[in-house]
Amino acid sequence: MKRDFAALNDEFDLLVCGGGIYGAWTAYDAVLRGLKVALVEKGDWASATSSASSKLIHGGLRYLETYDFKLVRKALRERRRLLRIAPHRVWPLRFGVPVYKNSRNGTLKLKAGLMLYDALAGGPDEQMRHAHFSSAAFFEHFPFLNQHGLKGGFTYGDAQTDDTRLVLELVAGTLALGAVCVNYAELTEWCEEGGHVCGAKIRDGETGAVLQMHARQYVSTSGQWASQVSTTSGLCRMSKGVHLVLPALHMSEALLLTAPQDGRVFFCIPWYGRTLLGTTDTHFIGDINHVEVEDEEVDYLLKAANHYLKAAWQKQDVIHAYAGLRVLQQSADVHPSAVTRDWVLHTATNRVHHSIGGKITSAREDACEIVNTVCAHLGVTNACETKIQNFPWTPQESYATWCATISSRARELGVDAESIQWLMRRHGANTVHVLQLVELDAQGAARVLSDVPFIQADLQYCAQQEMVVHLADLLRRRLPLMILSRVDAINLQKIAQAVAPVLGWDSARVRTELAAPMK
Ligand SMILES: Cc1cc2nc3c(=O)[nH]c(=O)nc-3n(C[C@H](O)[C@H](O)[C@H](O)COP(=O)(O)OP(=O)(O)OC[C@H]3O[C@@H](n4cnc5c(N)ncnc54)[C@H](O)[C@@H]3O)c2cc1C
Repeated sequence: MKRDFAALNDEFDLLVCGGGIYGAWTAYDAVLRGLKVALVEKGDWASATSSASSKLIHGGLRYLETYDFKLVRKALRERRRLLRIAPHRVWPLRFGVPVYKNSRNGTLKLKAGLMLYDALAGGPDEQMRHAHFSSAAFFEHFPFLNQHGLKGGFTYGDAQTDDTRLVLELVAGTLALGAVCVNYAELTEWCEEGGHVCGAKIRDGETGAVLQMHARQYVSTSGQWASQVSTTSGLCRMSKGVHLVLPALHMSEALLLTAPQDGRVFFCIPWYGRTLLGTTDTHFIGDINHVEVEDEEVDYLLKAANHYLKAAWQKQDVIHAYAGLRVLQQSADVHPSAVTRDWVLHTATNRVHHSIGGKITSAREDACEIVNTVCAHLGVTNACETKIQNFPWTPQESYATWCATISSRARELGVDAESIQWLMRRHGANTVHVLQLVELDAQGAARVLSDVPFIQADLQYCAQQEMVVHLADLLRRRLPLMILSRVDAINLQKIAQAVAPVLGWDSARVRTELAAPMK
């Protein structure tokens, strides 16, 4: 993946502004249909909401409470599809739901909800179907939970992804098919003629250079920045969601729990050997460029989780915290949790198509609608291929066979089992290239930091191949080291120096990168 700002100086069929999940799917779908596509992102790929999610590919059990059956069915259909076409990128994850004597939802209501969830999923196989457990059996699954008042519980199937790498893989696939995709390239102005958009000014975040580019169609997938555009600001509202990264609970399944403070649903999710605890859902009206985690949000989540845990988490257990903004459709509902998570496409009077709201889970299907609209304007009749097309890094052979072959080779090379599992999920078919680096230098099999499952060869591969511009791109998004571990200054310097040669950084540049905020 090579960054080439000058390549934007061309005529395109489609310009997509915003490199989150919606921009990535839109560009990938369009290039697969034969369009000449440019995708610009003002920061790094997935640097906004698309890296701050709960990382679930799910129907959303809780949306059944708001009778959003259409949304749940659509998301479950996508879940099934993504599990099939991208087994390395989207994998099954079961959730436990305990039922206590004083639970807001009792056994009968949960049973009915889970039966409906399974039915909306089209009658899933046993791996995804819900199951009921007695108190003792449920406690065996989740021995760290309070047993007092536990009446039993359920487990049900959903799926998990790495949101940031999902975006990156789609951008890589789009580039490989001949599109121009540039990070640190900000669209600063839509140029108009007779009230219609006829071009866009793009600023190179690295050099400050500005160029004017032209396309036949324009799509804005700018997420929360839609709230700053006069034509779309009235259509959306925002809700903030916070996650905490905490030590492992030693579970292979996640938990869906209900906060005792307000009855809201939240999750404890296993993630790269840690636990993700989240999320909050609060109306947001602050500065969209600075979305910070507040103390009371940390307290809220810890209090909610500690209500269920035998050994309470303390504030000092929090390894990292991150916040993101959901863009929701404008509505009269007071609480953001009551607002639909569905997505809309709005074409402004200047003819820019704006994507508003949505979910990572259903972004592929929504992007298909965006590109259908674009194609209708261009008179192109090529059908959407993302429905059936494997992901760019999906291994060619059967996934189980591929996993067995790669795992065995990685073990021979001295890579530890946990790192192997994540390596395959992170790189899919490209895992062989990472292992080739280990073949060249056996040190590549060692972990970068002992407490997180990333090996040195993975770090080098990402730095070489994945359009890294700044250190934060590498250590927050290509490998989320800074999110999963407390990296001290000495280790940070060692890592920066280790990747400096492949990134072409001299010592002054290394110092600048180390001094910059890790955003
Ligand atoms: C806390 C939380 C948890 C969530 N959990 C889940 C989940 O588990 N599963 C799920 O399916 N969904 C989840 N979602 C929803 C999902 O994350 C979002 O729907 C999705 O990430 C939105 O993607 P996007 O591409 O629209 O926006 P973004 O990811 O925000 O991307 C927009 C991009 O546009 C860029 N941009 C803006 N202006 C410009 C410009 N002028 N020039 C160039 N680039 C520009 C920005 O830098 C940004 O990268 C969650 C959301 C939140 C907030």
